[in-house]
Amino acid sequence: MSFTIHGIGVSGGVAIGHAHLMTHAGLEVPRYDVPPYQAAEESARFDAAIKQVRAEFEDLRASIPATAPAEISAFINLHQMILSDSTLSVAPRRIIETENCNAEWALKLQTDAVLARFDEMEDEYLRERRVDVIQVAERVMKALSGNPGYVPPPLRADSEHNRILVAHDLSPADVVQFKRHRFASFITDLGGTTSHTAVVARSLAIPSIVALHRGQQMIRESELLIVDGSQGVVIVDPDEQVLAEYQRRQLKFDLERQKLRRLKDRRAVTLDGVPVELHANIELPTDVVEARNNGATGIGLFRSEFLFLNRSDLPDEDEQFEAYRKVAADMEGMPVTIRTYDLGADKDHDQARVTTNPALGLRAIRLCLTEPQRFITQLRALLRASHYGKVNILIPMLATAVEVDQTLELIQRARQSLDEEGTPYDRDIKVGGMIEVPAAALALGIFIRKLDFLSIGTNDLIQYTLAIDRTDDTVAHLYDPLHPAVLNLLANIIRTADRAKVPVALCGEMAGDVALTRMLLAFGLRQYSMHIAHLLDVKQIILKSNFSQLKPLARKMLRASDPEKLRAMLENLNA
Ligand code: PEP
Ligand code: MG
Repeated sequence: MSFTIHGIGVSGGVAIGHAHLMTHAGLEVPRYDVPPYQAAEESARFDAAIKQVRAEFEDLRASIPATAPAEISAFINLHQMILSDSTLSVAPRRIIETENCNAEWALKLQTDAVLARFDEMEDEYLRERRVDVIQVAERVMKALSGNPGYVPPPLRADSEHNRILVAHDLSPADVVQFKRHRFASFITDLGGTTSHTAVVARSLAIPSIVALHRGQQMIRESELLIVDGSQGVVIVDPDEQVLAEYQRRQLKFDLERQKLRRLKDRRAVTLDGVPVELHANIELPTDVVEARNNGATGIGLFRSEFLFLNRSDLPDEDEQFEAYRKVAADMEGMPVTIRTYDLGADKDHDQARVTTNPALGLRAIRLCLTEPQRFITQLRALLRASHYGKVNILIPMLATAVEVDQTLELIQRARQSLDEEGTPYDRDIKVGGMIEVPAAALALGIFIRKLDFLSIGTNDLIQYTLAIDRTDDTVAHLYDPLHPAVLNLLANIIRTADRAKVPVALCGEMAGDVALTRMLLAFGLRQYSMHIAHLLDVKQIILKSNFSQLKPLARKMLRASDPEKLRAMLENLNA
């Protein structure tokens, strides 16, 4: 039966393909129907898996040498306790019967529900036990597969093209892996429009939707889906007419993209001759090829923290140097702005660190300054790479003058150590700061005096100005780039920086939103940095804009107190 589910579209376009359900625990779990008359058999299969894992634990316990540390046996005790708890060992049987589904799927649903309860716990120790729950559930899952110790391999690349990944939630680290394993689209139950998960999705240029709430429960493995990323709609099991209509729309979308390619080598200049720089945001060195294919005249934001994710160790100086050097060299003298690692919040390499308000916690430059040795390793790698192209260093999440001073001092220390070794680097390297905390936007003078350039991070600036968690789908509707407070901050940053003759760019999602291109131009923005997929759309608007006509409208837009009226005004502007 065909039905539709609504969420928030985070990356436009149409994808048509078969659902591939992804589990919380990272295991590939298919869902299939089990008719009521086979439910008892399926439950028995589940019980057998539980029994088998119980026996595995007993074997494990028996194999512990007498000299082994006491923690090992405590660890097995804990896992045995989790396994014996009825929430994991009994509740899935009920799900098998009520949902008419297979045992793996029932276990997955129950594990997700238990994990959600863990996430809400106040007690940090208990919250951290979620990892143990996942490990026990994985053991049972493996036993169910009839192959203990077996984890299904990832899908082969050629089978992924028409697969739509359906997940409860995905981390930015999960999504960046899709750069290697291509899916046609992905959709999730949780997430906000500018969560890093959505940000990376946009960089993949595949249609994607977040905040579907119950999508994973309603969609079955292999079901045919249409994902309309522009409208935020998923059509499950479409009929032939709907399918034909979306195939037509998909073709039209692809043709328009091909037409845009013609603009690749055109300079981005307004009709009245105002030049604009259009730079790319990237996550991995390999993204440079597509950035150049889409006519980027620089890298405005290399989110270097992605080099630190999806691994248990840290990249050492040489590995980082090679990544930065490659981007600098491949851009052949065009500017490459590399942001020092912005870890913490929703991109944490330290899964054990659980804090109440991660976005307000030890994140970005705050984290770097508590780990000076690790930070200097990155700074040395960045400086070394600057010898091979035009590298700029960008500091994320600045809020105070002390943070700038301490960072500049560490850069100085890194320079000195390279000088002592005689290692070459660009002695004129520029250091800039991200303006993404309202305090920095309001006290801009401090940063202008100490830094060579600024880059406005609107994703965080909006989050912190409006007090809206960018990862939380329940408040996503309140996340409004057109709020007068946000617009006035933006216009003020651009104006103040211009007066001080300090270059200012904008690298948040607003830069790639074509509905906002002309408004930002009117505010005086001349440097946009965005997802590769949006570069040519924005260029097309710039080429058709007249700055002298737009400029007088800026004041009116800043005075608009109703975002809806402003939206209508912007539509007229783009008509
Ligand atoms: C921003 O905050 O706007 C930004 C570009 O940085 P990130 O999205 O990585 O936080
Ligand atoms: Mg940011």
